[in-house]
Amino acid sequence: MKIRVGHLYPEYLNIYADRGNIAVLAGRARARGHELEVVSLGMGDPVPPGGFDLFYVGGGQDREQALVATDLVAKGPALVEAAGGGAAFLAVCGGYQLLGRFYRDRAGVELPGIGLLPLHTVAGERRMIGDVLLDCDWAGRTLAGFENHAGRTFLDDGAEALGRVISGFGNDGASGFEGCRRGRIYGTYLHGPLLPRNPWLADRLLADALAHRTGETVELAPLDDGLEQEAHRVAAARARERGGRE
Ligand code: GLN
Repeated sequence: MKIRVGHLYPEYLNIYADRGNIAVLAGRARARGHELEVVSLGMGDPVPPGGFDLFYVGGGQDREQALVATDLVAKGPALVEAAGGGAAFLAVCGGYQLLGRFYRDRAGVELPGIGLLPLHTVAGERRMIGDVLLDCDWAGRTLAGFENHAGRTFLDDGAEALGRVISGFGNDGASGFEGCRRGRIYGTYLHGPLLPRNPWLADRLLADALAHRTGETVELAPLDDGLEQEAHRVAAARARERGGRE
């Protein structure tokens, strides 16, 4: 099966080895006999209806976010339609912020988002940097990663977080939650990159993308994840050493 991935703004939002996440998706798809076809969606590129099973948008600083925001808003209706049709999304850091309603920077300038996730983000004084460990009880798994953001993300009432913070700051350094999850849409501050050390999330995204492609629930055969588990263990231990939320 061909899994069609739309990679939004790889030229602009790519500061956290986001391409590594795509490489993991491609490798794990290949190991199950599927092929990942990655199409770059840059400025002015159209988003054809039903054309993609998975969208990926990575991280960038405020400057890069400002450069893509207007174009992203233009693509907004097509992306909202794709999500409504069951396409999966992974949005990291700066991309995560722009899937919400808006991102307000330190100067008070507001970048519009596309409102795909029920949240908004406001930049704070201090950057929140370091290793993070999350408990994702909806999946019965943990996620380990690294965060580096000044934005504080506030989820709407009733919105579901991606995980509960065991160590690190998370969305806003105060709520005890990180990321946001809505159906097949996953937004998070975690990078480092994220998927090499959390292969279960990569498989979850592939299963979601295949479900969009086939209209059926898909079970992926397990892989030998010895190295990945070791990477997860090391990253999780580093986050635990950091302790609490500081
Ligand atoms: N606007 C960002 C911030 O909150 C960018 C996050 C990122 O992708 N580094 O710092």
